[in-house]
Amino acid sequence: MYNDVSLFIDGAWRPAAGNRALVVLNPATSEPIGKVAHASVSDLDQALEAADKGFKAWRKVSAFDRSKVMRKAADLLRERADKIGHLLTMEQGKPLAQAKMETMAGADVIDWFAEEAKRTYGRVIPARAEGIYQLVIKEPVGPVAGFSPWNFPINQAVRKISGALAAGCSIIIKAPEETPASPAELVRCFADAGVPAGVINLVYGVPAEISEYLIPHPVIRKITFTGSTAVGKHLAAMAGQHMKRATMELGGHSPAIVFDDVDVEKAAKLLAVAKYRNAGQVCVSPTRFLVQEKVYKAFVEKFVGMAKAIKVGDGLEAGTDMGPLANPRRVTAMETMIADAAQHGATIETGGKRIGNKGNFFEPTVLTNVPKSAQIMNEEPFGPVALIAPFGSIDDAVEEANRLSYGLASYAYTRSASTAQAIAARVEAGNMAINHHGLALPEVPFGGVKDSGYGSEGGLEAIESYLVTKFVTQAPL
Ligand code: NAD
Repeated sequence: MYNDVSLFIDGAWRPAAGNRALVVLNPATSEPIGKVAHASVSDLDQALEAADKGFKAWRKVSAFDRSKVMRKAADLLRERADKIGHLLTMEQGKPLAQAKMETMAGADVIDWFAEEAKRTYGRVIPARAEGIYQLVIKEPVGPVAGFSPWNFPINQAVRKISGALAAGCSIIIKAPEETPASPAELVRCFADAGVPAGVINLVYGVPAEISEYLIPHPVIRKITFTGSTAVGKHLAAMAGQHMKRATMELGGHSPAIVFDDVDVEKAAKLLAVAKYRNAGQVCVSPTRFLVQEKVYKAFVEKFVGMAKAIKVGDGLEAGTDMGPLANPRRVTAMETMIADAAQHGATIETGGKRIGNKGNFFEPTVLTNVPKSAQIMNEEPFGPVALIAPFGSIDDAVEEANRLSYGLASYAYTRSASTAQAIAARVEAGNMAINHHGLALPEVPFGGVKDSGYGSEGGLEAIESYLVTKFVTQAPL
């Protein structure tokens, strides 16, 4: 059911040097389910050599042909979605339907980038003299080092691999050690589709050891990281020191602003689904719910009702709405942050506790009256906790929304066109969704501002970040 996970280097699946491996746990049972190979420096050297060779070959493959191979990988991913979804749930915890949806969505990401591969157009600039051509040419930046996290093991890896491959780059992807099998199966789809050896290399290991080795290495030309702001700043600094391009998709603390002209029940329902999806372990998860005074009480009542109705359980069991947290660190973080909030005077409307002592289950939680000084009002909870507070005017809501240094996602609910326009203009965030939750599709830009990072992992901006611009001017002899 769950096989041990190998490294994939230069087109071959193989163990790490010295057979180094780490145990993988099922977050629903806390039981070991397999092992993942842990790369050492000699494995990384081989991956670098392969990525260098892979880049030289792949950049020569026409965009048209790269696209064909990628589309085949997308088809394979769709065909294998049941099996891969199962592995994803076993290692990450999310309900099976969500795991399968993530896998299918991964195929859409590949398809979209495969099409964009053909459209990495340059341009011709009108010259000042007859016979001169001024050409702007887009070239692949070179071998990429990608670091993807455990909350969406397929989705976060597939964006990096697809963007790189579409542009003509090779990649070494360090996928998450805690959820290694599903990204490995993703890579297998690309390999089985005919991506040449060395173009994709998959490693696992000690994250800091790998990033400190790969980022400064002269073979690597671009870094792409998804994870916490603290780690992102560290990696971005290292990339800067070595003048490497970087895309940083980091943490968030998303405000969800509910104005008093809405259908409260509908807003509460949509927002509760978004909040507890993947047990809140989502960088764009709505976290600070700011609700206009007139509808505050009604909203809290409806939202708490929704939270209480969520069925928490093993993601493999039918009817489960929310699985366990992906690792015990999240349980500890929830307990610490909720205790701190309570000490600061917060009201626990529902939840607040771990469920049982096997697996990392946690109650869907709603807190109100949380003072701004509480840790949870300032740091990303990355778990199933909603913080609801009332506001008076739009100015108050904007002030609170922009108070933190994060700026990834934001949400607003209103029936007024002018309020919608004003809130979208005034909230400092890379994404704003109004009256629905339509973020992170492959064709739309996806990235943060302020401490939430820079660069985009979606839309045509995403492929641009794997390209460099060369200017060529030519005169007749
Ligand atoms: P963490 O900060 O140690 O790790 C976050 C991610 O970064 C993991 O995937 C990890 O493997 C990787 N990482 C850590 N140190 C690294 C290094 N030196 N070099 C390269 N990669 C490194 O914490 P964690 O407990 O795994 O996750 C908790 C926090 O991470 C959450 O609170 C959340 O803020 C953030 N996170 C964000 C996302 C996202 O989608 N933006 C995803 C996962 C985790």
